[in-house]
Amino acid sequence: MNDRTSPHAPTALPFVVERNAHPVNSEERARLLADPGFGRVFTDHMVMIRYNDAKGWHDAKVMPRGPLSIDPATAVLHYAQEIFEGLKAYKLADGSMALFRPEANARRFRDSAQRLAMAELPEDLFIESLRQIVTIDRDWFPDIEGGSLYLRPFMFASEVFLGVKPSSEYIYIVLASSVGGYFKSGAPAISLLVSQEHTRAAPGGTGAAKCGGNYAASLVAQADAIAKGFDQVVFLDAAERRWVEELGGMNLFFVFSDGSIQTPPLGGTILPGITRDALLTLAREDGIVVREEPYSIEQWQADAESGRLTEAFACGTAAVVTPIGRVTGANGAFSIGAGGPGQFTTRMKDRLVAIQRGLAPDPHHWVMRLD
Ligand SMILES: *Cc1c(COP(=O)(O)O)cnc(C)c1O
Repeated sequence: MNDRTSPHAPTALPFVVERNAHPVNSEERARLLADPGFGRVFTDHMVMIRYNDAKGWHDAKVMPRGPLSIDPATAVLHYAQEIFEGLKAYKLADGSMALFRPEANARRFRDSAQRLAMAELPEDLFIESLRQIVTIDRDWFPDIEGGSLYLRPFMFASEVFLGVKPSSEYIYIVLASSVGGYFKSGAPAISLLVSQEHTRAAPGGTGAAKCGGNYAASLVAQADAIAKGFDQVVFLDAAERRWVEELGGMNLFFVFSDGSIQTPPLGGTILPGITRDALLTLAREDGIVVREEPYSIEQWQADAESGRLTEAFACGTAAVVTPIGRVTGANGAFSIGAGGPGQFTTRMKDRLVAIQRGLAPDPHHWVMRLD
């Protein structure tokens, strides 16, 4: 039988390693790593694992990174059966390589697969695939402030068939991309536009799954915001168009003058961010009052204007923690606090980054060392 439903099946699957015969030379790599930006510089290799209903997961490979050749009738090109993950590998202060909470990404990848009716990759195979790519491409860590190796595991329906049904074949790939700090010097506060016309996720839909389709559905609103001079879109709930949910790819937190914090509750329409979860855990540990409760856009504006709300920030793997300076909704624009990064936001970000980089104690065993 196959591994479609067995979460902890042992990874008997051996990885065949085919080294890239023409890797990027070291001078060119050094040039790329000096200022990699985000998502444009890729390493020499990739991982690929195949699935079909008959064989289950098979043919695990580490191979030279390169183009795929796929039939134009491949299911993903028509019905968007695709999911992904995003996490960073870090070089710790002592030079060893580490991942941050990869088990959480492995579990979420399975949850996303379930929602999209895809084959579920066993969690240990997911983690082993990350270990393989980071190990072979260990020379691709940028040695710059905030630098890391961003890992992008993803999976798509690869059956060649135009009928509408869950694919019987899948291809799983992991790419690695050298990235710098998301922002060059400290984190500037971003400006947000509340989308009045579009929503991102509806009850019963795929909002909690990390699937490409959610992003496709958010792009028109995001492009509209950028065209108007904003940095990001805030999505409201689809039913009442009132409750603040999240940005296109980051979760939201609100910080109040009484020292408490709040974030919208997970309930199927919000992506359960691992950064969100880590920050909630750290805040509770600090004795901070934490609410996972709905927050309306009217209340956000009223609290910002009265001073009850002092800070707001977005969070996710790529940018970690990003302060929000200004928000424009149906009833005009409002500023948050002094409009720049607040004390609480900066403190939480520094605490999380210190754990991720191996510079602070890690009581929850979030950091997985790879060597
Ligand atoms: C990935 C993602 C996040 C952030 O999740 P992290 O695990 O913290 O990186 C938030 N919202 C959406 C829509 C996402 O896809």
